[in-house]
Amino acid sequence: MTGQRTPTPLSDLSLQSHFQQLPDHHYQQVQPSPLRNPYLVSVNSDVAHKLGLDLCTLHPDELAEFGSGSRLFNSSQPIAMKYTGHQFGAYNPQLGDGRGLLLGEHLGPDGLLRDFHLKGAGKTAYSRFGDGRAVLRSSIREYLAGAAMAGLGIPTTEALCLVGSSDTVIRDGFPEPCATVLRVTPCHIRFGHFEHLYHSHRFNELQQLSQYVIDRYYPDCAKSDNPPLLLIRQIIQRSASLVAQWQAYGFVHGVMNTDNMSIIGETFDFGPFQFMDSYKADQVSNHSDHQSRYAFKRQPDIMLWNLFCLAQCFMPLVTGDGAEEAKTAQGLLEYELAEFSGYYKACYLNLMRQRLGLSVDPKQDQGDQQLIDELWRLLEAQQTDITLFFRLLSETPEKEQRHKLAGITTQAKAFEIWLDRYHQRLLVENSDTALRLTAMQKVNPIYLLRNYMAQEAIERAYQGDMGRVNELLILLRDPFNKHKVLEQYVGPAPQWASGISLSCSS
Ligand code: AMP
Ligand code: MG
Repeated sequence: MTGQRTPTPLSDLSLQSHFQQLPDHHYQQVQPSPLRNPYLVSVNSDVAHKLGLDLCTLHPDELAEFGSGSRLFNSSQPIAMKYTGHQFGAYNPQLGDGRGLLLGEHLGPDGLLRDFHLKGAGKTAYSRFGDGRAVLRSSIREYLAGAAMAGLGIPTTEALCLVGSSDTVIRDGFPEPCATVLRVTPCHIRFGHFEHLYHSHRFNELQQLSQYVIDRYYPDCAKSDNPPLLLIRQIIQRSASLVAQWQAYGFVHGVMNTDNMSIIGETFDFGPFQFMDSYKADQVSNHSDHQSRYAFKRQPDIMLWNLFCLAQCFMPLVTGDGAEEAKTAQGLLEYELAEFSGYYKACYLNLMRQRLGLSVDPKQDQGDQQLIDELWRLLEAQQTDITLFFRLLSETPEKEQRHKLAGITTQAKAFEIWLDRYHQRLLVENSDTALRLTAMQKVNPIYLLRNYMAQEAIERAYQGDMGRVNELLILLRDPFNKHKVLEQYVGPAPQWASGISLSCSS
């Protein structure tokens, strides 16, 4: 219960269509092509709660119909959005929603408008050579990843439900079951929406889009002397904060193309992502990323590169046109982009200090960055599990840490010098151990969506058992507390997990 409003049954839910007030070259109206024999795989009750939906009256079959496109919500006017983007560094003007439809916007009991987007809803004008479908495998990963990110407190899209079907499509030469994910987030506007308008010289429409984004997502920018300039500054800040959170939790996005970047700084469009078990700075998640463009350690630089692409589209927005103005605009935008590194470093240091139970007063340096860098080097050299390591620090008083490390690493001795320095640093802090450990346990999860966990859930689902998806959902939504189910997921990944390979084929 929300306490603010009586929960709404699904069939009474009405969607709004603010985005459709923009000119129609932003989108194309398309009806979903429903999947055959849809069945509910899972519903995320946290998301239902946020939306003010009454789970007691949510009949699984009804949800499967809405969640597969065979039934439309009241007043829904589905559209495929047009956007472009830089994919692996090259501009592609041909993009757009090729298999997902924006069904409309839902006003939640919290007063927030959230988009309902159906991924896997069939072909659109932007499908190019694609079939408009998503397979169960990638849909399970996207569904669980949204829940896992939200559980960690990292900004993300989520999904209300995951629906399976008897329809199949061919992937890598084999038939695979189709599925749909009903994605829920306040925003489906990507960097690529701005790129589409800028590169096709539609500057009036660019102006309209910028105004729309300010009105809906960044209302305080309207008060500024130069709203678009404040807008790009805030997008840069949110994007820096997002990538700092990915780096602090060992998340590899996999395909950081500008069409996969949300302008509100949420983790968006999960493809071949992974949370690393043990730290590897060079980790590449997508096996077709032959140049390692999207390797873990490059993610902050790539985010900045993506923001550069976005900032270019702001040139006509921040000043008038004309050569002199263009020079001024370039100077202003370059200044904003130069601030990225400072935002990123501050967010990252703050998060890592929290993970280590250190004071987050930004004025105190204490050599923390060096301590953190050294720790990652050590974790990488020893191939020690990141999640187990931080949780151990959060559950163990200093005196016992050295001894306990022996349980999670083959070379506990290698950590001795680092632990001494860490303990020295804690002395400066002079914090209460019990209080510090409690605070650390709120930022250092017991559970993470490890690759092999998703893989096991997928394998079972392909044998008709959807139970594991739902069990994982429970752990991932609340990863900081121990759960009675699935005891094995408290421990490290098994040996076979290192062989899992991820592709874009989804
Ligand atoms: P992604 O790699 O999922 O971020 O998608 C990149 C582009 O390809 C977007 O324009 C997608 O809508 C489109 N796309 C991906 N998969 C399909 C598919 N199976 N059918 C149609 N379009 C697709
Ligand atoms: Mg995408």
